[in-house]
Amino acid sequence: DIKKANANYFGAYSSFGIHREMISDKVRMDAYSQAILKNPSLMTGAVVMDVGCGTGILSFSSEVALAFEMLVNLASGTRIVGLNPVSRASRVIAVEASEKMASVATQIAKENGLWRCTEGNNQYTGVMEVVQGMVEEIDKSIQIKPHSVDVLLSEWMGYCLLYETMLSSVLFARDKWLKPGGAILPDTASIYAAGFGSGGTSLPFWEEVYGFNMSCVGKELVQDAAKFPIVDVVDEKDLVTDAVLLQAFDLATMKPDEVDFTASIELEPKSICLANNSTELTSKTTWCYGVVLWFDTGFTPRFCKETPSVLSTSPYTPKTHWSQTIFTFLEPIAMAPGKPYVDKSAAVGTDACPASRIHLRISIARAVEHHRSIDISIETSG
Ligand code: SAH
Repeated sequence: DIKKANANYFGAYSSFGIHREMISDKVRMDAYSQAILKNPSLMTGAVVMDVGCGTGILSFSSEVALAFEMLVNLASGTRIVGLNPVSRASRVIAVEASEKMASVATQIAKENGLWRCTEGNNQYTGVMEVVQGMVEEIDKSIQIKPHSVDVLLSEWMGYCLLYETMLSSVLFARDKWLKPGGAILPDTASIYAAGFGSGGTSLPFWEEVYGFNMSCVGKELVQDAAKFPIVDVVDEKDLVTDAVLLQAFDLATMKPDEVDFTASIELEPKSICLANNSTELTSKTTWCYGVVLWFDTGFTPRFCKETPSVLSTSPYTPKTHWSQTIFTFLEPIAMAPGKPYVDKSAAVGTDACPASRIHLRISIARAVEHHRSIDISIETSG
């Protein structure tokens, strides 16, 4: 039931640990702080709405432009020593559904002199206010006309981009509160896929444990892994295919129902530069054990004219608290360049008729029964 699912979801955001994890994620903080602090032509004088403000950290940056380094210090746990107001939004509406976090954000904003409301003796000179409630339901508690926000800011991304499906709330806010032509930060989001080899599984660990062969444990774990996606870090060296774009979203223009999608992709063996025209590597079978998904979000020059940036959660870039999302195949698929044939029944160790590429059909959709989770289906075909 939706009410219960929401209570669980916003309840989870009431614990401070999750906020500490997000604030400590330097890759995340760098991308957002660049977008907010280094695009004065966008932010100065703007009416900003922060959808899901949490501690309020993104709103604080829109309110007073802190030096970039200070935010980085904050992310690593150091205290801010001085504020350097350069550009300032004219109003920052920080919306937060969790009652606990809304009251915490309010307290922090007040204690740091950022609060907008003049209570009593004009104590607060800031431009920020916190509105408690789901962004879908704040009409009555907000004194602003629809379509009058200049910049819609949100950190809404979940594991595999869409887990928690907060994107729908951001699109709702866009359609209701954003001015025509207003900015949305970030404004693009893309999901990527690549195949991984045995190194991306627990097989290598169990192959030799203090000299003992425990590979039966690894095999069982790989079977288990095929039942559920796993959120973990995948090392770039464990990828056996090149990365391909699975789906790209334009947040400024996409329709709310485009959050659900099906896409077909082909994974090809990782390009390897062969020395001396050697054929040795091309004739070797590579086993693909599954597919790993990750995303990036863009703060593109469309809105961030001075300083565009990208927040990437890929295996090729420094890791983030999102890690990657790992989907293990029921059985590994043999791959070799130049032989267009998929042998699904091939057992590990046989070298028969490997595929040159793996065709995948991947669909991601909001779960009908479990509000806020997503259903992901991955099919392989020849
Ligand atoms: N902006 C903060 C927190 C991001 S986490 C930061 O960058 O650190 C997302 C936050 O959005 C959570 O605190 C969650 O409670 C809130 N949230 C999720 N869906 C929401 C909705 N529909 N309306 C209001 N807040 C929402």
